[in-house]
Amino acid sequence: MGLMDGKKGLILGVANDHSIAWAIAQEVMKEGALCGFSHLPDPPGDERRKSWNRVQKLTSEYPATAKFLVPLDVRSDANIAELVATTKQEFGTIDFLVHSMAFASIEDLKRETVATSREGFLMAMDISAYSLLALSNAFAPLMNANASILAMTYYGGEKCVPGYNVMGVCKAALDSCVKYAAYDLGSKSIRVNAISAGPLKTLAGSAAGVKEMLPMNALMSPLGRNIEHAEVGKSALFLLSDLSQAITGEILHVDAGFNIMGAPTKALTDAVAADALKKAKV
Ligand code: NAD
Repeated sequence: MGLMDGKKGLILGVANDHSIAWAIAQEVMKEGALCGFSHLPDPPGDERRKSWNRVQKLTSEYPATAKFLVPLDVRSDANIAELVATTKQEFGTIDFLVHSMAFASIEDLKRETVATSREGFLMAMDISAYSLLALSNAFAPLMNANASILAMTYYGGEKCVPGYNVMGVCKAALDSCVKYAAYDLGSKSIRVNAISAGPLKTLAGSAAGVKEMLPMNALMSPLGRNIEHAEVGKSALFLLSDLSQAITGEILHVDAGFNIMGAPTKALTDAVAADALKKAKV
């Protein structure tokens, strides 16, 4: 018996095998869930279909549980409507939806937040925050009682994390969307939660400067280490399953405890002191 036996849902946001969405998909499929997937639409006329190919290569390894793969640009209401129609046709109703998507232009990500372009801000907000509301609203009529919607967020939406810039503003909006959607959909017994993950090496992560964050994050975390993709996958499994039936509107931190710290850990102050000594050649 798997924890997700009999459950069907959508995993939105797989770009490649490093994607957090793929780590989540593997955990839920292992527990018996049937999944529908999306990929970023390939440009018209692009015969290589790079985006489709990358995701298809992964899902084709799970023929029993990965049931369909369709293009989705969350900025497009037509794409969302097509995804609803496919889901209805393939699954009838669903029990979960994973929203694991974010985007801001690299130019805006590298700028100081105050210098974000108007156009870039609106696009980043549309893809990274508004899309959760749009998808929740579009899929609510297909959702069974106790269905679970899950978004992916980051601590940079709660506190200022230098370098995270406009994406921090988007994550603050996303966190708020989680809570308001949880309220709106609570009366239909649909739950909406988010995981606030520590830094992980992924496509989106590298654009947000994850590689540079990793050493400091390990030193600043009570567990004294960074997290792994599968750890997020397992926590997502909990939030998508009936084990978390009474949890909604929650932001669950899967970050080795980083978010609870109010001042540097001893490991970090020791490391800084050792570095200062080395530099002073004492
Ligand atoms: P990723 O690059 O693998 O995933 C990002 C996904 O967003 C991709 O699949 C991409 O196709 C999709 N996307 C971008 N624009 C889109 C659009 N217009 N329409 C539809 N999909 C679109 O990177 P990831 O790190 O797995 O990111 C997944 C989520 O996790 C994001 O919300 C990210 O902010 C969040 N997150 C990541 C980290 C980290 O350290 N990597 C930490 C905390 C939260």
